[in-house]
Amino acid sequence: MKRVSILGATGSIGQNTLDLVRRDRSAFQVVALTGGRNIAKLAQDAIACDAEIAVTAHDSLLEDLRAALRGTGIEAAAGATALTEAGARPADWVMSAIVGFAGLAPGLAALRTGATLALANKESLVAAGQLLMGTARRAGARILPVDSEHSGIFQALVGEDAAAVQRIIITASGGAFRDWPMDQLIHATPAEAATHPNWDMGQRITIDSASMFNKAMEMIETREFFGVRPDQIEVLIHPESLVHAMIHYVDGAMMAHMGPHDMRHAIGYALNWPERRDLPVAPLDLARVGQLTFEAPDPDRFPALRLARDVMEARGLMGAVFNGAKERALDHFIAGKIGFMQMNTIVEEVLARLEGHDKIAQRPMTLDTTARADHLARMYVDSVAKEQNG
Ligand code: NAD
Ligand code: MG
Repeated sequence: MKRVSILGATGSIGQNTLDLVRRDRSAFQVVALTGGRNIAKLAQDAIACDAEIAVTAHDSLLEDLRAALRGTGIEAAAGATALTEAGARPADWVMSAIVGFAGLAPGLAALRTGATLALANKESLVAAGQLLMGTARRAGARILPVDSEHSGIFQALVGEDAAAVQRIIITASGGAFRDWPMDQLIHATPAEAATHPNWDMGQRITIDSASMFNKAMEMIETREFFGVRPDQIEVLIHPESLVHAMIHYVDGAMMAHMGPHDMRHAIGYALNWPERRDLPVAPLDLARVGQLTFEAPDPDRFPALRLARDVMEARGLMGAVFNGAKERALDHFIAGKIGFMQMNTIVEEVLARLEGHDKIAQRPMTLDTTARADHLARMYVDSVAKEQNG
């Protein structure tokens, strides 16, 4: 039996992971499940899959979780330290599906035990790619991509020589505002940005898809995961979202990864790797799809893609600055305090101010320095937002 933990079990990726694990009860033993405020769901899932421990991120909800699990023999815990301990519980495979920077410490803890980390939490790779990859290397642990584009790249690289890769192309649906005119984009609301044309995902990543900050994050994720140069990474708008990634090899061949809009494919691939097993994913019917279209992204509409290139060049703690600034700008947008396009101008301004600050870009990367860069970026977002909005 494979021992599995799911960090962020109550979210969109977490629920899809649980669905796969529950379909094959004889193959998996569930160790830890973590969640946030939805205690009822967390407890219900922990009971249904007979987990060893359930952890909520919120200290104040510990008693509620205890009450919900009373008499089941399942342990309850709460808070940031408990989340990291959940990641460190002996397991073979750990799903990292917490949203945001909070996923970094539990993911690192899992890697240190030598467990395989299935990584949906792209924020940790953007903020601390070298730390995450270095920790995996030292522990002899493996990180498997779960983001659909990166799972696609990973699959299209199987059996190939990394030196033969010329370019990697990741696709973007274009998000909710693909066809909106620029002057309307400025007034887009959080509710409008939180509906995705193709995928059913958490609120934050859905809004990031509309602004293309998600794709910007994925460019950096591609660099950190696969060790390619920034100039080898490209983005193409592909409204059908059926081709997730393409690899252009030096001999002119292009290997594309295709699949339906169902994250259980990428999750299942990471869960069963290195085998391919039957998954409850509908087969693609290309005759029905009819045509696939591609276009280059408009740099004026999506400034985040340009910012990602700057961050990839700078590396070091600038990834943490970028991620922290993006997360905080997104908080402000969701709260109705800043406009949709303002997320770009604020993040750009914070990157510019912090690049020279106290040599932040050159500091060695540890969990501590990364957390400080993240914190500083969030503070700068608050002051730049205030300045811009008078
Ligand atoms: P979600 O919002 O649906 O779920 C997030 C999970 O994290 C929940 O369990 C929530 O309780 C927990 N959480 C939230 N804040 C937390 C905190 N501060 N501390 C601890 N736990 C916290 O998000 P999602 O869409 O499932 O995305 C999860 C991760 O996977 C993100 O990094 C996202 O970018 C990535 N991802 C998601 C998809 C998708 O299809 N949903 C695709 C690719 C990558
Ligand atoms: Mg993706």
